Amino acid sequence: MPADFEDDSATDDTALIARFGGHGIDRDSAAHFRGRLERRLLIHRCDDCGRWHHPPRPMCPACWSWNITPTEVSGRGRIHLLMTLHQGPPASGVDYADGHPVVTVELEEQPALRFTSTVADGFPTDRLEIGTPVTLEWVDRDGTPTPVFGLGEDG
Ligand SMILES: [Zn+2]
Repeated sequence: MPADFEDDSATDDTALIARFGGHGIDRDSAAHFRGRLERRLLIHRCDDCGRWHHPPRPMCPACWSWNITPTEVSGRGRIHLLMTLHQGPPASGVDYADGHPVVTVELEEQPALRFTSTVADGFPTDRLEIGTPVTLEWVDRDGTPTPVFGLGEDG
């Protein structure tokens, strides 16, 4: 864990909720957000059938097992859906004037396993298209590690 984020309070539910106030933290998503503080993208995976799912739910959508483990993914995938926001609520690091890109990435771990965020600063605009390979990067937003996507190695 980077020194900037050595913070015991991160394991406390109240502190976690305070830190990610706008994200709707609940018992199912808490582990995912704790992972972010360690710069690990944790996605729920079923212990019984191996199925991944996101957003986090308490039960496996494939086999209805309650045995779910938040598990780190590689962060590699391809752009599945792309939007450009030209207005929205004020947010750290977001500039709507130039158009704020939002990407839904299909992660390599499983077809249809998708995670939505934005792209890293300097992402080549001519590669902002469906199918572009991307890889996970972490940036600071108000001192909190935030997952974004950069251009993948074979991109
Ligand atoms: Zn399952």
